[in-house]
Amino acid sequence: MQPSVLSPPVLSADVALFLDFDGCLVDIAPRPDAVEIPHGLFQRLDRLHDRLNGALALVSGRDIADLRSWLPDFPGVIAGSHGAELSLDGTTIQKAHDIDLDVAALHADAAQAVSVHPSILVEPKPHGVALHYRADPSLRAVAEAAMRRLARAHPGMILQPAKMAIELRPAGTGKGGAVERLMATPPFGGRTPVYAGDDLTDEEAMAVAQAYGGFGVKIGEGESLAFYRLPDPSALAQWLDRSLQGGA
Ligand SMILES: [Mg+2]
Repeated sequence: MQPSVLSPPVLSADVALFLDFDGCLVDIAPRPDAVEIPHGLFQRLDRLHDRLNGALALVSGRDIADLRSWLPDFPGVIAGSHGAELSLDGTTIQKAHDIDLDVAALHADAAQAVSVHPSILVEPKPHGVALHYRADPSLRAVAEAAMRRLARAHPGMILQPAKMAIELRPAGTGKGGAVERLMATPPFGGRTPVYAGDDLTDEEAMAVAQAYGGFGVKIGEGESLAFYRLPDPSALAQWLDRSLQGGA
C-alpha cells in the first residue's frame, strides 16, 4: 500500500461529508481534554451543513456528550464512541450495538489494571474504555497487554488500536459501520461519501467511502488506503473553505 500524496479535489454539493475530530478538525493535544478549537471552525461546519443539505457527520472515537461539549451547536449527525452511539437529530443519543456491557465494571477493571502506571491515562467511555500512553510511549506494551486481559474478561468487547492509545469497543461497531449505516439514511443516502481522518480507526471508514464511489482523505503522515492526503488540520480547513467558495 503506497502512501497517497495527492491533494483532494474541491467538494461538489452532492457529497456526504464525514469528518473525524481529533487530528482532523483539531490538532492532537497531549490529553483529550486539552484540544483547542481553531478560529472559524463553528462557522465552517455550519456553512458546510447548509451547502450539503445536512449531509455532514462527525465520526469520532469520543463519546457524543464529549463532542457536544467542544462543538455545542454542531448542526450535523454525530457518530460517537467508534460508531457505538449515534445522534441523528442533535439531541437524542441512540445506542448502536447490542452488547450487554457492565460498563462500570469495565472502567474499574481498566483503572485497576494500570494503577501502577500513573502516566497511562484511563479514559472511561459510555461504551468502552481507552488507555492513552502518549505521556510515556514506552508503556505501549503494558497498555496493550492490560487491554487484552480486559477483552477476555468482558465478552463482546474488542481491541481498537488508536494513536498513542488502545481502546475496547463493542464488537460490531466501528467507524466504517457508522458510515455504512448513515449511507443508508437520509440525507446521506445517494450522495458520494467523502471521509477525512488521521487515525488507524479511520481507515475502515475511508475504505467504506471509497467502496461507495467516494474517497478518503488521510490527514497527516502514515500508511493509508485513502486516495488523497492533506498534511494537517489547518490544510483540511483550507480545503473545506476552498470547497465552500468554489465547488460545493
Ligand atoms: Mg482522529
